[in-house]
Amino acid sequence: MNNLDLEQKKNRILYRELFHKANEGFKEQITNLKVKSYCKKERVCCKVRYTGFTPAEILSLKQENDDTSSEYTRLFIPYGANSDFDYENNNQVDIELNHQQASRVNKDYVNSVLAKLPGPVYFYLCKHLNNNECTLKDEKSFLCDGYPSSVTRMRIQGLAGRSC
Ligand code: SF4
Repeated sequence: MNNLDLEQKKNRILYRELFHKANEGFKEQITNLKVKSYCKKERVCCKVRYTGFTPAEILSLKQENDDTSSEYTRLFIPYGANSDFDYENNNQVDIELNHQQASRVNKDYVNSVLAKLPGPVYFYLCKHLNNNECTLKDEKSFLCDGYPSSVTRMRIQGLAGRSC
């Protein structure tokens, strides 16, 4: 290997290192930003999330291989669900009861959502929340980490975020 080849090789290694460090730094900044901006571990978004989809519609999306809906059914159940609720066989929910029960948990939020959104809205809660702690630990979902960015619309502009 002549001097020029050697120099080029050193430069390639140097650039690779620089890129690697910049990438790591970027990821760390994004993580810090997400934690500071969105998640204060108050579990607000674990207790009440909304979507325009009924449980049956979420199931239907899941059956079309939609990853978000599939994950949604793993985590969330609708307010007003019977004790034997399940997405596959017993997924009917009364919308009035759904709103009433969600209101008992976070009335201001529910009222704000209902006032701002024109169509039917359903509220859901996470079944893995126990004593305000997440029981999934290491199996947490991208729906938790990625909140509020999600294909299923669970949050509207100017509502959550303050108290999450
Ligand atoms: S899995 Fe844990 S963090 Fe995610 S919504 Fe449920 S309780 Fe909250």
